[in-house]
Amino acid sequence: MEIKSVGVIGAGTMGIGLAQSLAQTGHQVTLLDISDRILKRAELEIRKNLRLQSFFSESTRQSDTKLSTSDVLNQVHFSTDYQQLERVEFVVENATEKWDIKQSIYHKIDSICPPEAIFAANTSAISITRFGSVTQRPERVIGMHFMNPVPIKPMVEVIRGYHTAETTIQSAQTLLHQMGKDSIVVNDAPGFVTNRVMMLTINEAIFILQEQVATVSEIDRLFKGCFGHKMGPLETADLIGLDTILYSIEVLYESFNDDKYRPCPLLKKMVDAGLHGCKSNRGFYTYVKGQKLS
Ligand code: NAD
Repeated sequence: MEIKSVGVIGAGTMGIGLAQSLAQTGHQVTLLDISDRILKRAELEIRKNLRLQSFFSESTRQSDTKLSTSDVLNQVHFSTDYQQLERVEFVVENATEKWDIKQSIYHKIDSICPPEAIFAANTSAISITRFGSVTQRPERVIGMHFMNPVPIKPMVEVIRGYHTAETTIQSAQTLLHQMGKDSIVVNDAPGFVTNRVMMLTINEAIFILQEQVATVSEIDRLFKGCFGHKMGPLETADLIGLDTILYSIEVLYESFNDDKYRPCPLLKKMVDAGLHGCKSNRGFYTYVKGQKLS
């Protein structure tokens, strides 16, 4: 069955891309965050992304979207009021990667949203079964690990929690199909497949930098030149957000009780210093208006 109305919780890096992508594919979106200031910034960011996207489509003679900026923004309702989610069919939660924050959100939406609504956690590392356990509908809770930037990444890692029903997986796949995205379904484990590998790689690259084995640019260029990766691990870390990387590694460390996931002290120091990557204009590289300075 077609899904029309989607609640998107968290208007940060992922929530912005997700709201845009859903609106561009004809969904009614309610985008929720904790302050009007954050929502205003999200709206500006969507406007900027749409402008860049239309410029890119024109210059490459592609026309993957016929919707104007106002058509897309008219599909998005910006709000700080959770009560606005009382009629949605599907929720994708993209709040900060902290269990205490996320847990209270699931308690709240479980009491507000219709009982048949599906909750998808777009977490980097937290077990999906854990989200299900704080709701009265664990069979309707699933993981949907979108990639950044959402509008242009074709694949989503879908995670089956312990109680997730087959019908919930089918609904998630329906939504992704409507968004023009492909998916691979995996079983639940902290970090799933992608981030269990990716977070370790990034953390180890930061240890290498801390030990002065190589510079930032040397590390990234080795991955691109030797392995054909489009981005090196430190560029990827800046794109994801260094705070999100740190919180995800901490989740893996606590979940597996394994020292191999201990966060690099340099990563902690950079997060404390406010160097959060692209979103704060400084991380391993410096950015001006979203563009990396070489
Ligand atoms: P972010 O820090 O850019 O944004 C998080 C947003 O959540 C902020 O705007 C914050 O105000 C909001 N928030 C916090 N508490 C809230 C609440 N109670 N209600 C509503 N909103 C609240 O983080 P992000 O990079 O967008 O990551 C969001 C989630 O997506 C995390 O779980 C992260 O692990 C996951 N994720 C991130 C990436 C990535 O590349 N950044 C990729 C896949 C998944």
